[in-house]
This record gives sequence, C-alpha cells and structure tokens, in this order.
Amino acid sequence: SGFTVAIVGRPNVGKSTLFNRLLEQRKAIVDDVSGVTRDRQYGIADWAGKVFNVIDTGGFVSRSEDVFEREIRKQVHIAVDEADLILFVCDTTTGITGQDQDMADLLRRSTKPVLLVVNKVDNPERALYATEFYSLGFDNTFMISSISGSGSGELLDEVVTHI
Ligand code: GDP
Ligand code: MG
Repeated sequence: SGFTVAIVGRPNVGKSTLFNRLLEQRKAIVDDVSGVTRDRQYGIADWAGKVFNVIDTGGFVSRSEDVFEREIRKQVHIAVDEADLILFVCDTTTGITGQDQDMADLLRRSTKPVLLVVNKVDNPERALYATEFYSLGFDNTFMISSISGSGSGELLDEVVTHI
C-alpha cells in the first residue's frame, strides 16, 4: 500500500543508481555490465516528510524475440501497472535511442503521470546536449546526475507533489 513510484527505462541508463540515490542506501545491484539488475527491487524513500515506495525494474528492451528480454519487458509492464507515478530514465551520453522512442510511445499511452529523467547530466556541457530530450514531448523533464545527486532534489520535490 501507499504511493508507488516505478523507475523504468532501457538497460544501462542508470535506473539502479537513481534507485539507490532515492533510497540513499545500497540495496540494488549496480554494475557496469548492462542490465545487471533483472528483477524488480522494492525500496522505501522519504522526502520532505512524505514516504513512498520505489520500484527499480530491469531494462525495457523492444524489437527482440529473446525470451530473457521479453521477461524484462513484462516486468516493466507489471511495474507500470503497480505504480502511481513513473520515472522514465534516459541517458544523455547516448542521446535518444530507438528503444527510448519505443518506451516513450508506450508511456504516452499510460494514464499514469510520467516524469522524464535525463540522467548522467554530470556537468554543464552535458546539460546542453540533454536538451534534445525535450523532443520526446514530456511536460515534466528533469536533468540529473544520479552519481553526484545533482538535480535529484528538484526531481523529488516534483515526485512528492503527486502524493
Ligand atoms: P541500469 O541498467 O539502468 O539500472 O543502470 P545502472 O544504474 O546499473 O548504471 C549503468 C552505468 O551507468 C553504471 O556504470 C553507472 O555507474 C553509470 N551511471 C549511472 N548514473 C550515472 C550518472 O549520473 N553519471 C554517470 N557518468 N554515470 C552514471
Ligand atoms: Mg539496474
């Protein structure tokens, strides 16, 4: 029970790093190997006196018949069903990919509020490149660095307004 936030996005964009940042503890497995966190992980975050659940999902992979990837896709759909709010994470270092576009198309059809989180915006130069993500058309777009935590406070401020 309680307000639930799901973190979705393709592998390696930094979902688990963001999950840990939101929880400020080390429960998820974060690794340099793409898509190491396969199953959903649940945690509890608290910001400005408001407590909410956070779900970290495995990566969303489309255009593949691979069973393993299909399983991940299913996990994301389940997480989206369970969530009250979705954090759609992208990676500024790769720019917008086909999988990001597919995910954006899926999420636009969701009735749940979606916040677009452009991650790995570690410095001002990357912030310039990150502006391309506005073209995905989400009203609420946040530039953050999950590694340094920069921008995560503004993101959390917005999350708790939905509770
Ligand atoms: P996931 O597959 O989406 O869960 O991605 P992970 O959280 O496992 O992160 C994938 C890689 O991106 C790891 O090497 C992280 O250290 C790195 N990473 C995550 N967030 C950031 C960030 O804000 N800046 C940079 N430079 N790297 C990041
Ligand atoms: Mg992960």
